[in-house]
Amino acid sequence: MQVVTSIKKMQDIVRELKRTQQTVAFVPTMGALHKGHGRLMERGKQNADVCVVSNFVNAKQFNDAEDLKNYPRNPERDKEFSEAHDVDYYFAPADDEMYPPGFLTSVNVGFLSSRLEGEFRPGHFRGVCTVVLKLLHIIQPTHLVMGLKDAQQFVIIQHMLTDLCMDIKMIGVPTMRDRDGLALSSRNALLSDEDRQKALCISRALKRVHFLVKKQGILHSGELLQAIRSAIGTAGVELEYAEIVNKTTLEPIDHVVRGGTFVLIAVRIGGIRLIDNTRI
Ligand code: AMP
Repeated sequence: MQVVTSIKKMQDIVRELKRTQQTVAFVPTMGALHKGHGRLMERGKQNADVCVVSNFVNAKQFNDAEDLKNYPRNPERDKEFSEAHDVDYYFAPADDEMYPPGFLTSVNVGFLSSRLEGEFRPGHFRGVCTVVLKLLHIIQPTHLVMGLKDAQQFVIIQHMLTDLCMDIKMIGVPTMRDRDGLALSSRNALLSDEDRQKALCISRALKRVHFLVKKQGILHSGELLQAIRSAIGTAGVELEYAEIVNKTTLEPIDHVVRGGTFVLIAVRIGGIRLIDNTRI
């Protein structure tokens, strides 16, 4: 695995990959890598000749300075982890390499960015889209591998690729969970043991929705959301939002449409923000 920190060097490598007609899968991350990221790397390797992973904690997508300061970082372990997953190039630019003085451009994907996460984290998706587009320009992958754990992010990036006629195939990887159901997340490392136990109410609530839809035929969003609120509330966890939305437009829907629906949840536990979702 080659570790690259300079954009210029990465561009030289990309030129050579193009010259030799190799397909490239790109996995953008913010480090503190876990098995969920590992799954993305595996999917990258399965789908292309070469897998490039980036590790960049993108300050522009944090609307809360404390959150950025506390975000878990483990660069040495991340390199070993990526190497063990057969990654070919590990791109870890410094902040001022990505955003030199005078950097002005930002990318905004309209109303999709202002709802849900965007409502609670203003400017978040502008930061995400700006960094992802910049990374795509540097790496010029044939495939972009992202997790469905961040469902809204996935929809927005997919929309950006379409709007900007970018010929990149997006691969969505289902959420990887711990054995007890908690969705793997870099932020889980910040949870106390007690809060981690409490966090299990999120996957429990999503499971309950599946049960109600599949076994009891309940499709009415209001009823399903009530079940979520009660599962989260009884666990003593602060619910930021729970929504049932069309999986493409992210607009709330009155009734679940099987095959076309996301159920999205965001909570706060002991100051840590966690999100999760399920597709129905
Ligand atoms: P992050 O480092 O949190 O920005 O995540 C980098 C990529 O990994 C994103 O595409 C995430 O959606 C994806 N990801 C994070 N957690 C998981 C998970 N538990 N399962 C699958 N993909 C994940």
